[in-house]
Amino acid sequence: MPRKQYFDQLVSPFSHWHREQHDGINYFDLDCVGTCPGCAKPLFLADTIYNKDFRFQGKSHWQQRPYVFLAQAAEIPFYEFFYTVDESTPFRNIIRFDIHRIYPHSNKRWHDLTPDQMLQFLEHMSLKSHGPNCENREYLIRKIKANKCGNQFIRQQNYVEFLSI
Ligand SMILES: [Zn+2]
Repeated sequence: MPRKQYFDQLVSPFSHWHREQHDGINYFDLDCVGTCPGCAKPLFLADTIYNKDFRFQGKSHWQQRPYVFLAQAAEIPFYEFFYTVDESTPFRNIIRFDIHRIYPHSNKRWHDLTPDQMLQFLEHMSLKSHGPNCENREYLIRKIKANKCGNQFIRQQNYVEFLSI
């Protein structure tokens, strides 16, 4: 856990307590575990990073190590998801995503994605790559058909058909 506290981080009583302890212990917050909506299997790890001043500054190699250990053990990829926001909007709406794959190591990057392209990336991870092999595929299909949250699901029918074959 970093010693330095950034203004926009939430402070839990645990992290507050932990910051007051000595250097012989450590922990890190796991930022984002992408999971299958049908079987809950973890599909990837991601560090979501605010693209401050367009610098695309991720964590240091050392700070990435816990993620890499976990990704290796789980045999899933680890990404950095950079998001760029429109500061003039009340909820700081995201206007752009950039993805760097850290593990497996490569120079694989997806640059300047629109929010819908980012959504397609996530759909690919969960529905295209994993969906056909999901141990709860029938439940997964029912879940995406129902889409109970009511939010827009542009490619819903494509995925229902793809997974129903
Ligand atoms: Zn699944």
